[in-house]
Amino acid sequence: MARTPVTGGNWKMHTTLPEAIALAQEVRHRLGSQRLGDVLLFPPFPFLAAVADKVAGSHVNVGAQDLHFEAKGAFTGAVSAAMIVSTGATHVLVGHSERRSVFGDTDEIVAKKLRAALAAGLKPVLCVGEQLAERQNGTTFAVVDRQLTVALDGLLADQLQHLIIAYEPVWAIGTGLTASPEQAQEVHAHIRAWLATRFSAAFAANCRIQYGGSVKGSNATGLFAQSDIDGMLVGGASLTADEFAAIVRAGRAVP
Ligand code: PEP
Repeated sequence: MARTPVTGGNWKMHTTLPEAIALAQEVRHRLGSQRLGDVLLFPPFPFLAAVADKVAGSHVNVGAQDLHFEAKGAFTGAVSAAMIVSTGATHVLVGHSERRSVFGDTDEIVAKKLRAALAAGLKPVLCVGEQLAERQNGTTFAVVDRQLTVALDGLLADQLQHLIIAYEPVWAIGTGLTASPEQAQEVHAHIRAWLATRFSAAFAANCRIQYGGSVKGSNATGLFAQSDIDGMLVGGASLTADEFAAIVRAGRAVP
């Protein structure tokens, strides 16, 4: 079964409002009107509505980089799923490694955020991946299994039709060190097998799994060529419209 490629640009804590608008316009322009798979932009919270407005009517959709799991209340500085939906955003990153390592999101918090996203109708991109020491001591699969097990505990396949998983080895994020296509494929195949066991073969065959970690125009083709890699989650290179468009174009044609 052919899965539609999905490539996301995580702008992290970069851009001002005018820069975000200009970047969104430029990405839209570079991609043109041809459908090149699903394309997602993840700008900072304050720019979600403006970026959603700039890409309206195109093949580009917008997502938030995080959310809080509570619906509303005295949580100063936090942003709820409903707030994100109200901006026109359709997707949300959950469990990005920087949220886990810098902001202390545990597997349990990630699970709560995933449920809040689903309850609000947001399409989640669940990020998983091992630290360098974990790869070196041979626990990559165990780490990814634990992250998936806790995040998806108790959820049914029907609730997860729009789930995207991003495999992002932490040692490759923002470091310039990309996993080789073979290293990435090995973990993607493992995640797909895990999904088949946990849900069903059909669910696993449908679920899109992105790779993230220092993806550039120059290494995207080799990664996309792997049978279980369905797209990229791009940080640094997504801040340059040309480079991001080159990564999107490296994806397989939309069936
Ligand atoms: C990311 O932020 O998800 C990421 C993969 O960043 P970079 O492409 O810069 O490594």
